[in-house]
Amino acid sequence: MRPFASTIPLDEARRRLEAAVRPVARTEAVALEEAAGRVVAHEVTSPLDVPPFARAAMDGYAVVAADTAGASASSPVRLHVTDRLYTGVPPRIAIVPGTCAEIATGAPMPEGADAVVMVEDTLDAGADRVAIHTAAAPGQHIGRRAADIAAGEMVVGAGELLTPGRIGALAAVGCARGEVFARPRVAILSTGDEIVEPGRPLPPGRIFDVNRFTLAALVAANGGLPEPRPPVRDAVGALAGAFDACADADLMVFSGGSSVGDRDLIADAIAGRGDVIFHGVAIKPGKPMMFARVGGTPFFGMPGNPSSCLSNAYVLLQPFLRAMARLPPLAPRTLRVPLGRTITSQAGRHQFYTVRLLDGTAMPAFKGSGDITSLSRADGYLEIGADTIRLEAGTLVDVMLF
Ligand code: AMP
Ligand code: MG
Repeated sequence: MRPFASTIPLDEARRRLEAAVRPVARTEAVALEEAAGRVVAHEVTSPLDVPPFARAAMDGYAVVAADTAGASASSPVRLHVTDRLYTGVPPRIAIVPGTCAEIATGAPMPEGADAVVMVEDTLDAGADRVAIHTAAAPGQHIGRRAADIAAGEMVVGAGELLTPGRIGALAAVGCARGEVFARPRVAILSTGDEIVEPGRPLPPGRIFDVNRFTLAALVAANGGLPEPRPPVRDAVGALAGAFDACADADLMVFSGGSSVGDRDLIADAIAGRGDVIFHGVAIKPGKPMMFARVGGTPFFGMPGNPSSCLSNAYVLLQPFLRAMARLPPLAPRTLRVPLGRTITSQAGRHQFYTVRLLDGTAMPAFKGSGDITSLSRADGYLEIGADTIRLEAGTLVDVMLF
């Protein structure tokens, strides 16, 4: 065994990660249908006015407003209906005083008309006539040309996240594709002689790979492109080969072998290929956590224990990946509830303690670092500072929801 020489505090680990992160510079064009959640690479300005023409904002009649002055229920103004205007068809007849056109919402305004009287303010007055019983103000119920977006105006800015609303704005100006930053390619690989891919038979003494799948799910949910690789055996040569095979990725995330057992050989495989930036963080679970640069590529060596691995993925990998992907940091959704049971914690280690929400209280859900059910049966987690050793039942705690 080769015990950890030392661990660093969580805050120091976060500082070193922040200093090491490099946002991706590559960009790619994506179809608008695929653009949700992506990050805009270049500002887009509108090539046209939206709407491109003045249009009716109500179903009713396009009129000359002055014609309707003084109109009331007791003395309506009668106008000749000279046209019927629908959406998608440019009007051909100009409106002159004394005339009007029936018009549908969204149809282009005819020349000469400067207001729309909504149908509720009219009475049918025979074949080609209408009685208007409310005076119209000039401009009323008209959607001005360029009211939404003017030609030359910014539609989306560089670095903005493509929300459904921003995708809509691109569509409105006729963009079918958008230039966005590429997703960081993340090579994900599990190490260990015991690891078997789910779907295959399980020989004695072996276990199914959990980490590759939890990591891939978290990477995909935070702007990364997971590139899972087959598991690798505990041998320096095999690990070195895996580093070389993953060299083209933007980020490498391996799990297992980062601990202090004789067969934990990640550190040996890195020697000569890169620099270890930290190994060992004062957190629980997840102490055997490594961050390195291997051949210029950032490398996360996650603990093998599935709940340690996933806990560290939330706490350390997720913010790093989001910064690489140029996504905003995740604002945690928190819930303040009383603790359902007293918990004790080890001094000197910052603890991430999973809990389940039950009848408005936070009940401990943490079993052990090796148990994925510590997370699969939890709704969130609370942080217990390195100095806290006991939290009494009933204490109000902030639960970070998954
Ligand atoms: P290690 O970090 O390699 O010392 O592994 C610590 C523990 O986690 C051991 O019990 C391993 O069998 C287990 N483990 C390592 N990698 C995985 C994995 N990918 N999926 C499930 N369990 C794992
Ligand atoms: Mg191992």
